[in-house]
Amino acid sequence: MIEKKLRDRKVNLQSPIMKSILKKTDNQGDGSRYFSEKIVEWYHANHRKLPWRETRDPYRIWLSEVILQQTRVAQGLPYYLRFVSHYPSVYALASAPEEEVLRHWQGLGYYTRARNLIRCAKVVVNEHGGAFPSSYEKLRLLPGVGDYTAAAIASIAFDEPVAVVDGNVFRVLSRYFGIRHDIAQSASRKVFAQLAASLVPREFPGTYNQGIMEFGALCCLPKTPQCAECTLAAACYAREHQAQALLPVRNVRKTARKRYFYYFVFMSGNRIAMRKRSDRDIWQNLYDFYVAETSRQQTLRKVLEKDEQLRPLAARLAELEVTGTYRHKLTHQEIYARFVVVRPRFKRAALPTGLTFFTKKGLERLPKPVLISRFLADRKIL
Ligand code: SF4
Repeated sequence: MIEKKLRDRKVNLQSPIMKSILKKTDNQGDGSRYFSEKIVEWYHANHRKLPWRETRDPYRIWLSEVILQQTRVAQGLPYYLRFVSHYPSVYALASAPEEEVLRHWQGLGYYTRARNLIRCAKVVVNEHGGAFPSSYEKLRLLPGVGDYTAAAIASIAFDEPVAVVDGNVFRVLSRYFGIRHDIAQSASRKVFAQLAASLVPREFPGTYNQGIMEFGALCCLPKTPQCAECTLAAACYAREHQAQALLPVRNVRKTARKRYFYYFVFMSGNRIAMRKRSDRDIWQNLYDFYVAETSRQQTLRKVLEKDEQLRPLAARLAELEVTGTYRHKLTHQEIYARFVVVRPRFKRAALPTGLTFFTKKGLERLPKPVLISRFLADRKIL
C-alpha cells in the first residue's frame, strides 16, 4: 500500500532510503496504516485541549497556525485568544488598522507574519467573499500561507489528505524510519515530504496531522524523547539503534549576524521622539528611536562623529547618559543595543529627521519591538 502511494507520487523507489523504508514497512503489513493508526490512537488519548482544536473554522485554524509558527503553545495561546476576541471574523481582521494589529502582535516577533495576516485577511474578504478557499492548492496562493499552513488548514478544516511537514515531522519520521538525510538540504526535505504524503490516511487527515505534530511536541522530544512510553517504540529505528540523539541529521548551522545599535532617545519635556521603521529590515512598520548602526563595537564618540545628524552632540559627549548593553536575540541576528538619552537641555542639538514626539499615552499605543519596550520599562517610562 505504501509502495503504491509512493509510486503514484512518482517517487524513485530504487533510492537507498526508499528501499530501506519499504523494507521496514513490509514487516508491518501495510506500513503506512500501522504508523498513522498508532499516531491517531495516541493523539486521541494524549493531546492537549486547546481552543483551535475545538473548531473546524478555517479562519481560526489559520490564525492559530500563523501565531504558532516559531512560537511555543504556552506563549502563543494568549495571543490566539486576544486575536479571536478582538477580531472574531476574517472581516473584523481585514478592516483593522495595521498599527492596532501590530500592537496586539507585540512580543511575538517575526512581524512579517502579522503584516501578512492583514494582507491575507483582505484577500479572503475581497477576492473570496470572506470564505477561505477549500483546497491546498488555492490556500497556497494566499499571502503568507506556505506549504505547512496550507496543508494544516486543508486537512483540518476540509479533510484534504495532504501532509504537514515541519520540524516535529522531520524528527519523528527520521527517527522512526531511520532516515539519515540532512534536513538542511532541500533534496532531503523532498524525501521527507514524499514519505509524509504517503503516510496521510484519507479518512482522518486532519486528526493524523495534528497527531504527528503533537506527538513530536510531547513524546518524541528533541532532547528527551519519551521512548519508554512511546507507542511507536516497538518498531522505531532510533530506539533500536540508540540513535535518538543523532536524528534528525542537521549539518548547517547558520551563525547569527551581529549588529550594534546606538539608540538616541531625544526627550522634550515628558515627550519622546520616535520614528516608524520603513526600511526593508527587521521590525518593519514598528516604532523605535533614532538609531546609528555599526557592524562592530564602536565608541560613542566615533558613532557621533560619523553621523552627520548626530555630530552636534559630540561636543557635549561627557554630559550624555548612556545605558549598558542590551542583548536581543532574533533567529538569525543578535542585536547589541545601547541607549543614549538626549535630555531637553541639549536645546542646540539638531533633531534628526524622521522623528515625531509622542506623549506617554501616545507611546503606549504604538507598536514597538520588545527591545524598545524593555528599555522603556527599565526607565519606568511605560
Ligand atoms: S521510540 Fe523514541 S525515538 Fe522512536 S518515535 Fe518513540 S519517542 Fe521517538
